Amino acid sequence: MTDRTVVLRKGKDKPIRNRHHWIFSGAVESLPEGLIDGGLYPVSSHDGAPLGYAYFNRKCSIIGRIVSFGPGDPFTALRKNVQRAIAVRNELFGDGKETNAYRLINAEGDGIPGLIVDKYDTTLVIQIATLGMEKLRDFIVETLVQELGPASIYEKSNLPSRREEGLGDKAGFLFGGQVEKVFIRENGFDFLVDIAESQKTGFYLDQREMRKLAGSLASGRRVLNCFSYTGGFSVYALLGGAVRVDSVDISGPALELAKQNFRLNGLPPEEHGFIEADVFAFLRGPVSDYDLIILDPPAFAKRKADVRQAGRGYKDINRLALQKVSAGGFVLTFSCSHFVDERLFQQIVFEAAAEASRNVRILQRHRQASDHPVNIFHPETEYLKGLLLYVD
Ligand code: SAH
Repeated sequence: MTDRTVVLRKGKDKPIRNRHHWIFSGAVESLPEGLIDGGLYPVSSHDGAPLGYAYFNRKCSIIGRIVSFGPGDPFTALRKNVQRAIAVRNELFGDGKETNAYRLINAEGDGIPGLIVDKYDTTLVIQIATLGMEKLRDFIVETLVQELGPASIYEKSNLPSRREEGLGDKAGFLFGGQVEKVFIRENGFDFLVDIAESQKTGFYLDQREMRKLAGSLASGRRVLNCFSYTGGFSVYALLGGAVRVDSVDISGPALELAKQNFRLNGLPPEEHGFIEADVFAFLRGPVSDYDLIILDPPAFAKRKADVRQAGRGYKDINRLALQKVSAGGFVLTFSCSHFVDERLFQQIVFEAAAEASRNVRILQRHRQASDHPVNIFHPETEYLKGLLLYVD
């Protein structure tokens, strides 16, 4: 044990031995003198057993995040985790002919806390959540270049949680040529992603499998895509045989890009609706004649304290959609709030169905796409849940 070691309190090593990544401040017995926030330090149990390496930030209640378990070199472990993450995606997407845009590294889900990397064809977009990962940025970029040889790497670190870490937003190219918009393929369909100006890291990759599902349900149906963003679900629905699709989003630029995405896939945007509106207000208006309604809102509960308020929001839109969908129609409804778990979400949809006085059956339950793995030892990586409902 060196004097750089962070020592945990008696009994507080158990979660780490179970490969959970987080160290809460209350679990720490002693920090080394002169600890530098963001730095990597060895961690040991109360009786001196080496547990791994973590980066620390004393500003945060999650004071440390483990980057490697056991006594081995943390940089070797990090590189291995990057390689493993890439190998899993190669299993999922093969040569990338059908799908070349996916989440390559899903933070703790891939054993790398504080780091998200999305791949858009040959462009990588990275998002850093913590001070410790900021300090590892150069190593990560170098490793990604060595392992993947991307054309460009763009950083888009704009998570609100960075405030707690004492960090501001950061955006810009870290490697390679500057690109504005990137063409991607998803399940054989084409989309344009605006790298710098978009929401999140550019495209909601976590809904890939659900877009495919929507396409498979859409034949002969009139579809309402609420919170449509750049028209992902809409394109799939139309190519799946929908007779009409209306896309509603509060963002004008997202809808403009949706029209471009229609054209890219040979679909005439002028034959469909693109409605720049607040979905809450839109659904309260004269909405009828839809036989598939998609509800994919942003996270209403960004913090635990927001759950009650968020529940009201989810209930409102679900009640309105269930009231208005035609008989024999589908509602495909989601929540991407980590703090609204599956049970609570189903309870909210139950209340919405009761208030709408419609007979509702759950046909399927859904999760985030498989390139957003959930680490079984660290279930906090789970956030997206969805229900496919059939309404009599
Ligand atoms: N389903 C989309 C992703 C939706 S992301 C896809 O597959 O790509 C959530 C979207 O909701 C964003 O585009 C955001 O602009 C939009 N949004 C947020 N609040 C809104 C509101 N109150 N009314 C309408 N759109 C809203």
